[in-house]
Amino acid sequence: MEHYDLLVIGGGAAGIAAATAACGAGCASVAIVDRKPTLGGVLLQCTHRGFGSNLTGIEYARQLLKDFPPEVTVIGNTTVLSLEATRVAHLSGGRRLSFSQLILATGCREIPMGALPIAGTRPKGIYTAGQMQEMMNLHGFVPEGPAVILGSGDLGLILANQLAQVGIPVTLVEKQRRCGGLTRNQKCLDDSHVRLICGQTVTEVRGQTKLEACHLSGGDWIACKTLLLAVGLRPERTLVSHLGDPTWLHLCGNCNTVHPMVEGVLTEAIQAGQTAWETMRKHG
Ligand SMILES: Cc1cc2nc3c(=O)[nH]c(=O)nc-3n(C[C@H](O)[C@H](O)[C@H](O)COP(=O)(O)OP(=O)(O)OC[C@H]3O[C@@H](n4cnc5c(N)ncnc54)[C@H](O)[C@@H]3O)c2cc1C
Repeated sequence: MEHYDLLVIGGGAAGIAAATAACGAGCASVAIVDRKPTLGGVLLQCTHRGFGSNLTGIEYARQLLKDFPPEVTVIGNTTVLSLEATRVAHLSGGRRLSFSQLILATGCREIPMGALPIAGTRPKGIYTAGQMQEMMNLHGFVPEGPAVILGSGDLGLILANQLAQVGIPVTLVEKQRRCGGLTRNQKCLDDSHVRLICGQTVTEVRGQTKLEACHLSGGDWIACKTLLLAVGLRPERTLVSHLGDPTWLHLCGNCNTVHPMVEGVLTEAIQAGQTAWETMRKHG
């Protein structure tokens, strides 16, 4: 079985920074695994500016990867399916790796429709916001309007901006009394295509095969062909939930805490990379 001193699971900003830091500190045997073909994680679907010195996510990923050490083994297109307490990782395709230290950098998951108290069937046209961002920015998909976006945090606002730019009428529905996202993302609210309804939520959807309308808690039905759910993110730690807190396990990035800004991810990941290498030197 192949062995690495350090295995990093997840090749987003956190995994890239952690692997780079561990390598820079002296760890010579590092592998990074990601289910996607290329490193970058969520950055690769972000075409909006606001990363670092106002770069797009894609530009920021490129910048991060400029310093990526060539000696790190990159295993792309591969999902880590499970981990054993004996420090063995089972990968898709039947491959197994053993490791001394593990950095989990698996990012976060969006809250899906099934987790929300929304009545009705599940017609075509309902997506999570991150799914839609990936479909639009990586695959050129344009959703049908009008659209309702549930949640006015940054992800909801970024999508509202993007849909408004292509002329799709958007209603942002926010259960709090005011819009939730950063001021810089609220520019869509000045666009005539975007309407904000605060203090309400979506309680029901209607439509046989395709979405036709959403019902709001205030009593109105809004005709729409697309509903985007931007209601929150949860750290993705399923792989390690049975392991307790072994000294060889280090978490960083959005699988540890959901970070609104990439700088917070990097700080935590650099620390995790260095700690993993120090632990390796002390305990193996
Ligand atoms: C839509 C959006 C917009 C944002 N906008 C900004 C912004 O404008 N400015 C800013 O500073 N920050 C922004 N952020 C915050 C910041 O960019 C992210 O928090 C950061 O990029 C997350 O990095 P990460 O490595 O923790 O997670 P991710 O980038 O999600 O990386 C996790 C990686 O793990 C992989 N993975 C997961 N499970 C497995 C498995 N079992 N096996 C193999 N691989 C696996 C995934 O494929 C993914 O590549 C934004 C975040 C989002 C979601």
